[in-house]
Amino acid sequence: SSALVWLRRDLRCHDHAALFHALKNAQKVWCAFVFDTDILDALPRQDRRVAFIRESLFELDGALRVLAANAGAPAPALTGLIVRHGPARRELPKLAEQLGVQSVYAAHDDEPYALQRDAQVRGALSNVGAALYTLKDHVVFERNEVLTGNDTPYGVFTPYKNAWLKKVDDFYVKPYPVEKYAARLATIPAAVCPPELPRVPTLPDLDFEPVDTLKVPPGTRGGQALLGDFLERIDHYGETRDFPGVKGPSYLSTHLRFGTVSIRELAGLAWRRAQAGSEGARVWLSELIWRDFYHQVLFHHPHVVGHAYKREYDLIKWANGKHADAHFAAWCEGRTGYPLVDAAMRQLNQTGYMHNRLRMVTASFLIKDLGIDWRRGEAYFAEKLLDFDLAANNGGWQWAASSGCDAQPYFRIFNPINQSEKFDPQGKFIRRYVPELTSLPDKALHAPWLARPADLAAADDVVIGRDYPQPIVQHDEARAETLARYAVVKANK
Ligand code: FAD
Repeated sequence: SSALVWLRRDLRCHDHAALFHALKNAQKVWCAFVFDTDILDALPRQDRRVAFIRESLFELDGALRVLAANAGAPAPALTGLIVRHGPARRELPKLAEQLGVQSVYAAHDDEPYALQRDAQVRGALSNVGAALYTLKDHVVFERNEVLTGNDTPYGVFTPYKNAWLKKVDDFYVKPYPVEKYAARLATIPAAVCPPELPRVPTLPDLDFEPVDTLKVPPGTRGGQALLGDFLERIDHYGETRDFPGVKGPSYLSTHLRFGTVSIRELAGLAWRRAQAGSEGARVWLSELIWRDFYHQVLFHHPHVVGHAYKREYDLIKWANGKHADAHFAAWCEGRTGYPLVDAAMRQLNQTGYMHNRLRMVTASFLIKDLGIDWRRGEAYFAEKLLDFDLAANNGGWQWAASSGCDAQPYFRIFNPINQSEKFDPQGKFIRRYVPELTSLPDKALHAPWLARPADLAAADDVVIGRDYPQPIVQHDEARAETLARYAVVKANK
């Protein structure tokens, strides 16, 4: 029998659930990736994520041949990756038919759109005599694996985490030994991939951003380099993770998004190190568990896409019209007059990454200082983040809006000035992204419109309102408006 592995957000060939099962169950196995035009057509022409994927595919194609060679496959040079460009619902059945496979293996993807797509592909494959098998790969526990004593999904994180920690053991974080059957990686027929054409095609209608502008090194090599670097710092993660001016977090989110690292490898490392007494590893593992938590929230409550998890929050009337649009544009472009917010938004626009503390600060600012619907911010992040993940992004936004599963209470409103003083006290991060304020003394950086004239004069005559914007809202007034806006929630609880 023969099988095709359809790679989507699992762009690696080690510790890979679908690849392992395909190799174990079939005599001949091919691997394919589809640049799915049903997804790509909706994206801007220049998308850094497509560049990340493409680079990772180049590497994966080579890695598959090495895997085949090391396992003694008959013609390793003719193995590798098959890449297609078109709607997956059409490309997959076409390829399955050309290769004559009986089965197609892929990883679970529980986003509502992906479930729909997979159902469509499954139907189309059955018309050509092939079955689609999907398996858990990109979380440690999924769907119904961690439930309450009443067999219902958890709605609060801490008990979920405790149940997760109780359940995890070596089995769940053990790598899939893909190498064991890798000799079954099959030669790709010339009719499927003509040898004179490049394996990973240049796509004429997509303008790839040059990879050197990507701040995250792509491929499994990039993921391993970041992991190696982070493991030197992991024990201090708890103390450093909240300070955007410090190299505290792992920066592995994009690799987790595209599966260029294995979640089992990361969770296994963190779990063992936490057991050995590392406080930093314990805190980091908890973040990986948040990731699983939001994935199961999305699976059990798909209405969170577009709606509040707690329905009464959909009654809130958000700021609308020209004034709100101007505020939204200022937020997107990093010119709200609040330096920490602006630095964060510029980091997002320039690099495709934003520090977790700043995702919370900027989301809170949009929702609770500008009174703008969280869905607009969620969509902006979805467009800009290299690590955009529907479950985590939606979870993060609904947390900030207080409408989510285990969210912060609605009356808890971040003060952007206090956050700035606390988490970027010397303005190290602000100065990196808001160069127009570089020469201000540290204490004036957090709310420059309140700075003493002498400080501004000493700082190369910076004029607030000319060189850097005046604040577009006053936090205290905005806070009062937000509490009034959220009153509808209390009334309808
Ligand atoms: P680390 O601190 O090293 O954490 C390790 C990993 O744990 C991350 O890579 C991520 O996979 C996971 N993780 C950490 N925090 C969270 C969290 N709160 N929820 C879920 N998973 C988490 N994360 C995304 O991966 N994609 C998103 O689109 C996304 N959008 C967000 C939007 C908002 C408004 C907020 C508040 C958070 C969002 N997060 C998102 C979560 C978090 O900010 C990022 O995962 C983190 O900043 C990524 O950086 P890192 O890999 O260096 O994190």
